[in-house]
Amino acid sequence: MENIPYKIYLAENELPTAWYNMRADMKTKPAPLLNPGTHKPLTAEEMSGIFCEELVAQELDDTTAFIPIPQEIRDFYKMYRPSPLVRAYCLEKQLGTPAKIYYKFEGNNTSGSHKLNSAIAQAYYAKKQGLKGVTTETGAGQWGTALSMACAYLGLDCKVYMVKVSYEQKPFRREVMRTYGASVTASPSMETEVGRKILAEHPGTTGSLGCAISEAVEVAVTNPGYRYVLGSVLNQVLLHQSVIGLETKAAMDKYGIKPDIIIGCAGGGSNLGGLIAPFMGEKLRGEADYRVIAVEPASCPSFTRGKFAFDFCDTGKICPLARMYTLGSGFIPAPNHAGGLRFHGMSTTLSQLYHDGYLEARAVEQTSVFKAAEQFARVEGILPAPESSHAIKVAMDEALKCKETGEEKTILFGLTGTGYFDLKAYESYNDGTMTDYIPTDEDLAVGFASLPPVPEYD
Ligand SMILES: *Cc1c(COP(=O)(O)O)cnc(C)c1O
Repeated sequence: MENIPYKIYLAENELPTAWYNMRADMKTKPAPLLNPGTHKPLTAEEMSGIFCEELVAQELDDTTAFIPIPQEIRDFYKMYRPSPLVRAYCLEKQLGTPAKIYYKFEGNNTSGSHKLNSAIAQAYYAKKQGLKGVTTETGAGQWGTALSMACAYLGLDCKVYMVKVSYEQKPFRREVMRTYGASVTASPSMETEVGRKILAEHPGTTGSLGCAISEAVEVAVTNPGYRYVLGSVLNQVLLHQSVIGLETKAAMDKYGIKPDIIIGCAGGGSNLGGLIAPFMGEKLRGEADYRVIAVEPASCPSFTRGKFAFDFCDTGKICPLARMYTLGSGFIPAPNHAGGLRFHGMSTTLSQLYHDGYLEARAVEQTSVFKAAEQFARVEGILPAPESSHAIKVAMDEALKCKETGEEKTILFGLTGTGYFDLKAYESYNDGTMTDYIPTDEDLAVGFASLPPVPEYD
């Protein structure tokens, strides 16, 4: 073994005191969110009906590189951070690769994923503004769980619209949320106008994140004292998640480690955006170079087969338009798709970076992802979330390439969470009944047909 510990931790006084905003260093900024009616950039005033004020300011800030983390949030972070940066010695040995593999593990908290990093920040600013509560959607349930923990800690009301397929298949996470005091509703529901409309058009739908977002937004804007919060995609979420990358970089710098390849799974892009933030900052400023790979499911391939276009962030088409890689808000992913990463779009920041050639993307099939998860669990001990396992799969592929070429590359990937609540998916993998669904071009055409024309920008 080399002189690098199995786990690299930072001391409390080495934890980041400010988040890093990649957009400040981007020459081509992501396009602004547009008002869907006028196609004009959304103003802070328009946004403040949906989001709380401080978060609107963060959402629109393309120029401030470092934004201080309030002391209360840092105190909360200290309950479960720093998260460990692990040298995957056992995996390297098993693969027989000369590559050095590291992963940043974000599953060491009750919510089981990185989402708590932004949940506490968003709940904090809502509380500071004197709001009563927040509404949100959740897919697999990690975000809803993280938000209910943050709201319970701060004494805020929390209403969660949970994608119906997950609500039914993942009762355990639902009960964790309720234990933390959140109200949880299966989406689409009959409680909202948009839910009733979606149910009328698609009876029997198992729901999607896009539907649930529409419902949560409607409830926020029609109830005084409530705002909507979102667990991914938005600039503010990538900003909060930069704590992952800042800790990773500080830990690596301590030992003089420089990653050659950085890999993360990409649903809406927040963990990947957070992990790469300080590294991408160096790349954008021309100080260093890194290969960055976003990994997405072949069943919901926003980057690799999507279009770079303005689109609604939700199925109900009540949210603003964002220019991103998208499959169209009308795209409803296959119900056999396990875990999260079901969103039709992608962070505008990562979309712009991908468009400008700063990151690569790869789509992987579900069964190959679970095979990698199983192999990883058996040697590294951690039972990974299916989402995280997309990154594991590609990290292993890259490490095996190094075995062929003899290159001693350093590979870093984000292990975003644990898979304890995803055992239904593991069951279908273990039983051999898991299938791979890859949409045909005709399937994708349905989603693309739902893209709104935005002639002003074409
Ligand atoms: C939500 C989630 C993801 C995907 O979301 P991003 O915003 O793309 O990071 C990945 N892994 C886990 C464990 C999650 O809970």
